[in-house]
Amino acid sequence: MNIVVCVKYVPDATGERRFEDDNTVDRVGVDGLLSELDEYAVEQALQLKEKLADDSEVTVLTVGPEGASDAVRKALQMGADKGIHVSDDAIAGSDSLATSLVLAEAVKKTEHDIVLCGMASTDGVMGVVPAMLSERLGYPGATFASELEVDGDTVKIRRDGDAATVMVEATLPAVLSVTDQTGEARYPSFKGIMAAKKKPVETWSLSDLGVDAEMVGLSAAWSTVEGTEERPPRTAGEIVTDDGGSGAEALVGFLASKKFI
Ligand SMILES: Cc1cc2nc3c(=O)[nH]c(=O)nc-3n(C[C@H](O)[C@H](O)[C@H](O)COP(=O)(O)OP(=O)(O)OC[C@H]3O[C@@H](n4cnc5c(N)ncnc54)[C@H](O)[C@@H]3O)c2cc1C
Repeated sequence: MNIVVCVKYVPDATGERRFEDDNTVDRVGVDGLLSELDEYAVEQALQLKEKLADDSEVTVLTVGPEGASDAVRKALQMGADKGIHVSDDAIAGSDSLATSLVLAEAVKKTEHDIVLCGMASTDGVMGVVPAMLSERLGYPGATFASELEVDGDTVKIRRDGDAATVMVEATLPAVLSVTDQTGEARYPSFKGIMAAKKKPVETWSLSDLGVDAEMVGLSAAWSTVEGTEERPPRTAGEIVTDDGGSGAEALVGFLASKKFI
């Protein structure tokens, strides 16, 4: 089975994050990494390969700036077999629709039976690219899986909602997104890190995919971020001191003022 995992290179959330004047995320000069939520998708792909114990191959695919090959490399260190990095200056500033277009055209060029994604990127957090990808490819889309199982040409997922759990079944090829409930992602071992150095990574441009540069980028975006502002710093909490039994009353008063009770 050929498994393609879409992974996004995102700014490191532990570092200083800023926006450009055009309200896009500043990705230049900031540390980036493989989106943590996509590590769960890589893990599920590797587990699937291990369970099948055949000649299955895991290919990681990213669309992103030059540094995005670091995200591919990390997935290869975890155990993926090969990588594809779609890189083209025209892609900068693309919205979800354009990103899904580029991903879909790249997926079409690969051997694949199943396409795995994370539930959302840790920067944009739109959570829509997998659904758009399934639509563009014309494949069933089974999103937000907390468990997944492949049996022949059928994939079954568990989807946990607020009020109900839904079991969804689809026929392969399909696009799946997985949540952080699927299980911890493995750390790259020393052996994995060394082995990754020899694994192939291809770089494709828009022309390799036959995608017109006018279909992507900020100017082609269907949605625009109109403004961003820094969140105000947290204010100190209110400390209730129990003074001769008055603490409970003060707490009730506070909760009532916030309409919690
Ligand atoms: C500050 C800011 C400014 C923005 N400006 C604009 C704008 O002006 N116009 C506009 O239309 N949009 C804008 N966006 C939206 C941004 O372009 C989207 O975040 C992005 O295109 C795709 O959505 P996402 O990263 O939230 O992906 P999600 O839908 O959250 O991603 C889900 C999954 O899809 C896969 N995936 C997503 N992206 C990639 C990728 N590049 N490579 C490989 N796999 C991927 C991963 O598996 C990921 O886990 C802006 C966002 C921010 C935060």
